[in-house]
Amino acid sequence: MAARALAGLFALGLSLPAWGQQNALSVIDTHNHLHGLRAPWQGGTDFEGAAEVALDAMDRFGVRMLLIMPPPQPEHFAAGYDATKLFPIARRHPGRFAVVAGGGTLNVMIQRAVRSGDVGAEVRRNFRAKAEELVRLGAVGFGELTAEHFSMNPRHPYVSAPPDHALFRLLADIAARHGVPIDLHMEAIPEDMAVPPHLARRGRNPARLGPNMAAFERLLAHNRAAAIVWVHLGWDNTGRRTATLTRALLERHANLYLSYRIPPHRRREPSVMANRIAGPDGRLRAEWHKLFSDFPDRVMVGTDRFFVSPRSQSPLRHTADSAATLAILEQLPAAVARRIAFENAARLFRLGKK
Ligand SMILES: [Zn+2]
Repeated sequence: MAARALAGLFALGLSLPAWGQQNALSVIDTHNHLHGLRAPWQGGTDFEGAAEVALDAMDRFGVRMLLIMPPPQPEHFAAGYDATKLFPIARRHPGRFAVVAGGGTLNVMIQRAVRSGDVGAEVRRNFRAKAEELVRLGAVGFGELTAEHFSMNPRHPYVSAPPDHALFRLLADIAARHGVPIDLHMEAIPEDMAVPPHLARRGRNPARLGPNMAAFERLLAHNRAAAIVWVHLGWDNTGRRTATLTRALLERHANLYLSYRIPPHRRREPSVMANRIAGPDGRLRAEWHKLFSDFPDRVMVGTDRFFVSPRSQSPLRHTADSAATLAILEQLPAAVARRIAFENAARLFRLGKK
């Protein structure tokens, strides 16, 4: 399999990076989705087919292990699913998949509590019971949760919650107790702002966005033993997730981690996309190269691919780019690349012990 992975790297025209010469098939990609849902008229699901697509890509790209999770879902989402679809996949392919759970359950409970305002004893008891059940079932983290998720098209939900909501703080306590990180999707909104024009046109987003960074810092400070992974670094849709802001947060909060992705490069991108961590040539920009090198224990790979079953129809298969994301590792000093490629993920998600 290692030979196949190496052949795959060469076939893609990638030179084998320094860290890869000793660590073929070594990447742990910490944020991805299997898309096994089929259209209502097709019936059933095919998560195993999606897993086969993922395994093929993993072998080609030198990825040892993939963390898979349900996307963060609103209430009553027709295209939703939860981690019960994913645990059997991880059991069938030990060492290749691990499950991060809660996007189809805990996130929905947070959304319900935001809408109703009810964070009473019963709501908290049910939330804790569900989170602890997910850990018992083998979840290595809680996710994908969201505090600010933009709608990218009319069928894609807008989902928002205060990052320091009572249930997020409760989840931090549960995560700390069990040693499982929280995977959090959140657009950066340092102050009140209008929704960027391209998102006002495309999706179902509100016209104005309320600030969330101070509340995020309160969540980080709430329980220092809770590791929080702020996902999708490199996919900034407000233009505010800058290296300056990120560095200040890393300095102030030792329990903050990041997972990065390089989205597919598209011509005619809106101006907000100028704030990508890599240029159109795929090179990590200087301020981000310095940040990755200054905080090598705090960054992980999170390509955010949707591996789509061959029996499903979905444009989601085109929304991420493994080659561009993994090519960043080759641009870093070997010791930094090793940590970002797999050492941080293995330690934080305790993957050696599962
Ligand atoms: Zn996400």
